[in-house]
Amino acid sequence: MPKSTKPPAKKSRVSRRAPARSASDVNNKMAHELSRGYLQRTEGVQNASAFENAMAQFDEAAQILKLSTNQVAMIRQPRRITIVTLPVRMDDGAVQTFTGYRVQHNNIRGPAKGGVRFHQNVTLDEVKALAFWMTYKCAVVDIPMGGGKGGVIVEPSKLSVGEMERLSRRYFAELEDLFGPDRDVPAPDVNTTPQIMAWFMDTYSMHRNKDFVPAVVTGKPLEIGGSQGRVLATSRGLLFCLRRAVSAHDEKMNGLTAAVQGFGNVGSNAAMLLQDDGCIVQGISDVFGAFYHREGIDIRTAQKYARDHGGLKGFESTGLAKRLKKPEDLLELEVDVLAPCALELVITGRNADRVNARYIAEGANGPLDHAADKILDRKGTLIIPDILCNAGGVAVSYLEWVQNRMGYYWTEEKVNDDLEHIMNRAFDAVHATSHQFKVSMRIGAFIVGIQRVARAAELRGLYA
Ligand code: NAD
Repeated sequence: MPKSTKPPAKKSRVSRRAPARSASDVNNKMAHELSRGYLQRTEGVQNASAFENAMAQFDEAAQILKLSTNQVAMIRQPRRITIVTLPVRMDDGAVQTFTGYRVQHNNIRGPAKGGVRFHQNVTLDEVKALAFWMTYKCAVVDIPMGGGKGGVIVEPSKLSVGEMERLSRRYFAELEDLFGPDRDVPAPDVNTTPQIMAWFMDTYSMHRNKDFVPAVVTGKPLEIGGSQGRVLATSRGLLFCLRRAVSAHDEKMNGLTAAVQGFGNVGSNAAMLLQDDGCIVQGISDVFGAFYHREGIDIRTAQKYARDHGGLKGFESTGLAKRLKKPEDLLELEVDVLAPCALELVITGRNADRVNARYIAEGANGPLDHAADKILDRKGTLIIPDILCNAGGVAVSYLEWVQNRMGYYWTEEKVNDDLEHIMNRAFDAVHATSHQFKVSMRIGAFIVGIQRVARAAELRGLYA
């Protein structure tokens, strides 16, 4: 892996301001020049949607690669968008309808792959962006899958377990023709759990002559074909990337300060793994608030608290951390590492200037908008982009799919070793590419991904 010539300035153990400029500062000027047309349209735009931001990322990399109009036509837009109305019988006997989406962005390199999100703010725009990122994420980590994503507009905390099961089964049944081990393979995302994957799998299997079809969905419980290592895979992948980035800058993980936004699957486990690697996790947050302790927060205790209380609500009462005034204050802490692991568009042109971390490890999909990218690049912040940083989840999902199809299951050690190999290989490819083209890691990742998808499209050619 090439070493960066100018690392982000090393800070002492506990926070301080003014991150140093990195080589990417100079390098990104070139990217700016190359994609000036787009940037002039978007950099000043404060409210670009997730999909608009995704398209901006694509366009910047596509311009650098000088893709032809025909190539762009094959790989930029989603291939299929499906919207369904899902009637569900509630516990009181009333029928309530929910809107569900599945977007298949691309299946040139393999079946569409991507999670299903249950959230009250799900929109088609968001699902399209998430499906698009999946195409390029799978290509960056070089697994033979395409990109898809699903969502249902629902506030899960308002549903009973029975209502959640009926909604999940209805979603899968309604869209069953889209799904299949060679067609489209969903997985968990925000608010969807291994239990929900089990209901998806069971529904599909019932509709397939009661066959057992575990490979139709990943992120399942171990007892019905889940993979060892899947629950921690996204966070572990983030850790592997961060280790690589830190070591490329001749630094050590031990003693770095960190803040993690989101305390669900990705965030809480990322915080735990960072702490296990010697980082001082000073800040954590979830939908109920943000919490800080200068000397670090014991993450396993916080995880137990979140399990017992359904989140971090009231965590300050333990005396282990103080509550920050506003949840967003977490993003502005003076830490070495910031890991946004909640939702998209939390760091934008509006607040990017106030972000002090030197490394940003994107556990969430799309946490930064295009304007924030440019501001932070100029500040010399090293951003490990989502389509690389959080790809550990889909990498182990792929390993789960392989195991399901073989009917032979690996140990956690083997899965983690394979994951480490996949992530390191991907990090090195992105890092080398960003140096070669003198662009940020994000654009480097898109260049790697786009080249692979475009080449596959060229080889397959255009049917009819
Ligand atoms: P999750 O539902 O387990 O957790 C989401 C967390 O974010 C919760 O703690 C929630 O309270 C918190 N949150 C929501 N809004 C917040 C806000 N405004 N401020 C602070 N915290 C907030 O979801 P997850 O699976 O951990 O996914 C988190 C992110 O990671 C999403 O962007 C998802 O697309 C991405 N991701 C997940 C996986 C995976 O394997 N689960 C893989 C790749 C990427």
